[in-house]
Amino acid sequence: MKRKSINEMTREELAAEYSELLAEYNKVKAERLSLDMSRGKPCREQLDLSDGILTVLRSGDDCFDSLGTDERNYGIISGVPEARTLIAKLCGVEAENVFLGGNASLELMYGAVARAMLFGVYPGSTPWCKLEKVKFLCPAPGYDRHFRICETFGIEMINIEIGENGPDMDTVEKLVAEDESIKGIWCVPKYSNPTGTVYSDETVRRFAALKPAAKDFRIFWDNAYMVHDLYDDAPALLNIFDLTKGTENEDIVYMFMSTSKITHAGSGISAFITSGANMKHALSYLGTQIISYDKVNQLRHAKFFGDSDGILAHMKKHAAILRPRFEEVTEAFEKELGGRDIAAWTKPMGGYFISLDMLAGSAKRVYSLCLDAGVKLTEAGATYPYGKDPKDANLRIAPSYPPLSELRRAAQVLCLCAKLSAVEKMLADSGISDTAVSNV
Ligand code: PLP
Repeated sequence: MKRKSINEMTREELAAEYSELLAEYNKVKAERLSLDMSRGKPCREQLDLSDGILTVLRSGDDCFDSLGTDERNYGIISGVPEARTLIAKLCGVEAENVFLGGNASLELMYGAVARAMLFGVYPGSTPWCKLEKVKFLCPAPGYDRHFRICETFGIEMINIEIGENGPDMDTVEKLVAEDESIKGIWCVPKYSNPTGTVYSDETVRRFAALKPAAKDFRIFWDNAYMVHDLYDDAPALLNIFDLTKGTENEDIVYMFMSTSKITHAGSGISAFITSGANMKHALSYLGTQIISYDKVNQLRHAKFFGDSDGILAHMKKHAAILRPRFEEVTEAFEKELGGRDIAAWTKPMGGYFISLDMLAGSAKRVYSLCLDAGVKLTEAGATYPYGKDPKDANLRIAPSYPPLSELRRAAQVLCLCAKLSAVEKMLADSGISDTAVSNV
């Protein structure tokens, strides 16, 4: 049976549904739940998949790399050769274009922005901190920590809409071509956080062929979820380096990735991948900052996986754990919210998040209704620059961490709050001021 859209309901029907939902909400509140769908963290079973990494090196004798270098010692700033090769193969680039860092790609991204600020993007270019204004394009909803880096350095952020093929490229092309103060764009090209978008071939081609006014413009290509497919028929992402190689845009891409959501989130390895010229410039500063990152951990990763196929096989085990969690949430949305014009949500083929769009002006309300009912979500607004969602509509749902039974309950409560907020809004918009509404 077709369900009635909230827009087709009479005031009486809305008021009746409102009382029912309110009674149910009060019952849930009395349960004093404590559930959390805010954290994009792997769950315990996922972390356990990589425990072999803790024992793959058993003694000092195991700590020599394929060239006979003792990786317990100082040196080799760019990283352990076989670990660089492992990541290079996975990313479809040469090992010389891969710099391995510590456990967090976020630190490498922060470092790239900090270097650009202090020293410029290539030899002789003006450090961004000496410019009157530096701006970044920010496809949104997006990853809050990217936005926080910009905010920390006083970089002005410009929202760019993101659709099912990626960012709105007409706007991106136009803005970068006409404004020299635009120096970068944040991209999560595969399974964007939080929308799950995979950039289409055309989008990647248009990125590779961008014509920015600023010569020191860089695409911050954060490929955090490059191998995080939930299904075997996962969409493929074009290799942007294949498209920029040998062109005038050879230096336009800074790519980042890590094994945070492949092995152990707190102790993986990260990579900065870029052209030879960019790498040389970065290394001239990185060498002052550090003698080498944790190469024993890099070697552990290389030995644990063997080769890039080892990583792909390992990711299938993650998918088997994560897939039911994602489906639990999207099925609950379909069952409870489908066909009612209350909300729209993504059904990602991979990554870590589901993006839920409520009626405009409702996300904060749903967030706080959930919080009061014992369900923690990522704060409303967090997916937009400056924490300000212009429509107050978007919520980020992270299904990976809670056990399936908790996730089920949390999704039910979220749906209840979404319905309550929507009916409440319809009643308020139609001029009915029900005291019960403001009492929730
Ligand atoms: N990039 C994106 C898009 C993410 O969603 C996350 C974590 O949620 C990160 C980077 C963090 O990566 P790392 O652990 O390598 O710093």
